[in-house]
Amino acid sequence: MEHPGITGSLIAFDEVIPPRGGTAFTMRAGQVCRVVDLEGKQVADFICFHLRDFVDKLSPENTQLLNGTLLLTTGHHLYSTKATRLMTITADTCGVHDLISGSCSEYTNAFRYGVRGTPNCRSNFSAGGATGIQELKSKPGDYLDLRANIDLLIAISNCPQERNPCNGWTPTTLEVVVYEVEPTGKGAPRQ
Ligand SMILES: [Zn+2]
Repeated sequence: MEHPGITGSLIAFDEVIPPRGGTAFTMRAGQVCRVVDLEGKQVADFICFHLRDFVDKLSPENTQLLNGTLLLTTGHHLYSTKATRLMTITADTCGVHDLISGSCSEYTNAFRYGVRGTPNCRSNFSAGGATGIQELKSKPGDYLDLRANIDLLIAISNCPQERNPCNGWTPTTLEVVVYEVEPTGKGAPRQ
């Protein structure tokens, strides 16, 4: 992916996550993580932890409670089990993010599809939505920017699900970039 206006020294981390893959990395407070759906319709399953207190991790329940909505977008915050404001959404070209369905797993895939040993997000997380699963509307190049408010450990699973429409039936690549500064919508540093 191009990073207009961003010089190499402002990129702390840049990785393309292959279909069905995953990654984990740390972030310092103030850095911005951009998750890019390179080909469109691909779900990124995302978890994060306080770097010095892993019990204090992302809580979907507190996030919906303290934002007062399930429909997260720019300006909303990710909260932890201890109501720490972990991250803030600073840009969002997709607009559809799920807080309630959880990640696909060996067990839910076996229950739904009668198949054991499927690649799944829970396995991706340990290695490093039942409410109506819909095909994601994201377009190639759509992204979400998340600013770290404290030092964090991040883990992302590039959702391997291919037995329902959530990834358009075909898992594809994601890219994750960590910027030292907050980029603008076009990827340039904020003045
Ligand atoms: Zn998944």
